[in-house]
Amino acid sequence: MKNFYVTTPIYFPNANPHLGTAYCTIMADILARYHRLKKDDTYFLTGTDEHGLKIFEKAKQAHKTPQEFVDEIAVNFKKLWKTLSISNDDFIRTTETRHMKVAQSIFSKLLKNDDIYLGHYEGWYCVPCESFWTNTQVGEARICPECGRPVITAKEETYFFRTNKYLEQLKAHFEKHPDFLLPINRKNEMFNTFINQGLNDLSVSRTSFTWGVPILENPQHVMYVWIDALANYISALGYDSIDDQKFIKFWEQGEVVHLLGADITRFHAIYWPMILMALGLKVPNRLFVHGLIMTKDGKMSKSKGNTIDPFGLINLYGADVLRYYCAREIKFGEDGVFTPEQFIERTNADLVNNYGNLVNRTLSMINKYYDGIIPDFVSGVNKEDASLEKRCLDVIKEVDSLMEELKITEALGVILELVDMANKYIELTTPWILAKEQRHEALKSVMAHLAHVIYVATMLLSPVLVTTHAAALDQLGVDATIRDYAKLSQFGVLNQGKIVGPTPLLPRLDVTKEVERIKEIIK
Ligand SMILES: [Zn+2]
Repeated sequence: MKNFYVTTPIYFPNANPHLGTAYCTIMADILARYHRLKKDDTYFLTGTDEHGLKIFEKAKQAHKTPQEFVDEIAVNFKKLWKTLSISNDDFIRTTETRHMKVAQSIFSKLLKNDDIYLGHYEGWYCVPCESFWTNTQVGEARICPECGRPVITAKEETYFFRTNKYLEQLKAHFEKHPDFLLPINRKNEMFNTFINQGLNDLSVSRTSFTWGVPILENPQHVMYVWIDALANYISALGYDSIDDQKFIKFWEQGEVVHLLGADITRFHAIYWPMILMALGLKVPNRLFVHGLIMTKDGKMSKSKGNTIDPFGLINLYGADVLRYYCAREIKFGEDGVFTPEQFIERTNADLVNNYGNLVNRTLSMINKYYDGIIPDFVSGVNKEDASLEKRCLDVIKEVDSLMEELKITEALGVILELVDMANKYIELTTPWILAKEQRHEALKSVMAHLAHVIYVATMLLSPVLVTTHAAALDQLGVDATIRDYAKLSQFGVLNQGKIVGPTPLLPRLDVTKEVERIKEIIK
């Protein structure tokens, strides 16, 4: 048992949530639920990053105040998480007082410690957009990448964070903790693109807009996104407040895992650890960069008309099917391509034909041969028993080490292979012949082995199949006392259990028909 803290990035509520945001949150939820299954003390945080010029302008366009605007979108995020059975313990919004107070106190500490100083930021400036741009962004034509108007050179007063003060400490941290940033290609990218080149001090305030956390020492400035946004991971735990028990438990004494997208890797892998080092706090144990879900014609975007509304998929197939697809088909840490065909085929192959079929066949046979009572588990009756037993015990361990390494996709692969092995075990032991020949010791053993494999696979799938797994355990007659991770390796815990059912867990999907239905929700 340990304390486990997992976070998603806080999402930017300039538009409603899409499949990409759903994906990262599903993966975090699977990790959180797996650790709760193992009885780790678990805390799972998600939320929204609500400040900045972009939000301010979106709100203006919508004729709303920024607060009204983000209030409405935050509701849609919360609604999606509920629909997806997301089990977050908290939802932090950066416009909440509890967060803003912590962000301000962090800024004050860094200022006092001379980690932050007041300077000037120089660059290309677009007056109507009130935005600074880099050489690359304005190009040779020197025009604003946002509105296309000419830019001017301008100077703005800004606070800077002294990155070089912590550069050596950061390098040493990477050296000492090879798993700090995963997958490994992300670490190489950080060193080749940024760390080895040397770092500029980071601009951490703005005077050109007001929709942000004011800097107490100089209220003309608001915090520029990074200190404000990154601080959410500790403000939500009560850092620097009277009630900081969660912070002590889950940050200081816990395993801290941040999931993030590639576009924010630099800020999580370089600046966030430096801010924490400056505050004298522990650095997260692990940063894991997930990939993108794309369609065949590339990244999803409204202008391309290839976005997939997660609510649409859930309405058609339920949350479990979407959760399983994301975790199994898109290899965690790599980009993946969503196609309606693969979505349906993966569901049919794994959940209906392999897992669903095993449950249905087994329960029907236990009903038919033993009036729905699971026979006592005995070892060594059939020659096929030993290898299934061994595999079952090995799978529990393998899944655990894969999940600890955040290899969620591979862990699901291992569970489904066990299910596949059990289906083959039925073909090898031929229970219908055993029944015909009245070989009851052999037949009972086959039924008891199959029931146990279903129990193990179902419990291990429970972090993904939130509703379906419970239905399967109900049908297998597994009562609450046995829904316990510690009992998975104890053969015999299901002895004399009473089957209820079976009713098919998930319907087999017609590929042609369903592909058409999915295409209708792609916009
Ligand atoms: Zn502009």
